[in-house]
Amino acid sequence: MEIIFASNNHHKFIEMENILKPHQITLLKDFQIDEKEIIESGLTFEANAQIKALAFAKKFNQIAIADDSGIIIEMISPLPGIYSKRYSGLGDNVNNTKVLDILKSKENRQARFVCAIAIAFPDGKIFTYVGNMLGKIALNLKGDMGFGYDPIFIPEGKQETLGELGSTYKDEHSHRRHALNNFLEAKDEIIDYWRYTWKK
Ligand code: IMP
Repeated sequence: MEIIFASNNHHKFIEMENILKPHQITLLKDFQIDEKEIIESGLTFEANAQIKALAFAKKFNQIAIADDSGIIIEMISPLPGIYSKRYSGLGDNVNNTKVLDILKSKENRQARFVCAIAIAFPDGKIFTYVGNMLGKIALNLKGDMGFGYDPIFIPEGKQETLGELGSTYKDEHSHRRHALNNFLEAKDEIIDYWRYTWKK
């Protein structure tokens, strides 16, 4: 099964490819749309994942998969949330130091990552799945693996950040893994739609 990967985030691509490859799902990453052409105007992760997947599916007349994800920090919930990528406006490092500054000497450091996966067909049919990863914000930046908020996020039950734990841990336990597991459980329904409805 081949699906267009509706993003130019290379980190997300690698994580999703690692998870989907063993299930004979190939992500095609060479289909690109200028980011400015897609307006992520949704108010939820699900809505924004759907906007991205549908834009790619319609443009290339093929099934497309999109991930919209981010982190929600209890003290400032629902932020950074759907604004995670542009939280500081100055990139990942400044996003992280902004969060650390806001939580300075705060006891409540609870946070969770959320990932919405949308699979869209050119006819407008969309399947959407969500996954979460619970944890807390570290006191300092630690580790240089992963991307985004990984160096300040400590998953529940762990002492290290995702930046220290790396891809082996993330591929098994991340919000992305949980959302993709939900997709994989429903895969037959999607394949049926593909074979018997969309193709006709
Ligand atoms: P999106 O590309 O609009 O979905 O924005 C996702 C943003 O959320 C990223 O730029 C990161 O800041 C953050 N994010 C999402 N998933 C992860 C993750 O797995 N690790 C760290 N940060 C993440």
